[in-house]
Amino acid sequence: MNTLVCGDCWRQENLTFKQRLDPAFIRPGYRYLCAEHVALQAELLGHPGIGRSAA
Ligand SMILES: [Zn+2]
Repeated sequence: MNTLVCGDCWRQENLTFKQRLDPAFIRPGYRYLCAEHVALQAELLGHPGIGRSAA
């Protein structure tokens, strides 16, 4: 499987609600997010510009 899976979607599908809140299950190195979660993340971080990820 080479398909990138959104980290947040993966957590929603594979972890329980409690696990999702546990920092131990948050992987900083695994930050591929789908468009929906990229927008959500940008919103949470307070970034006004959404659409491009820094390359
Ligand atoms: Zn997602």
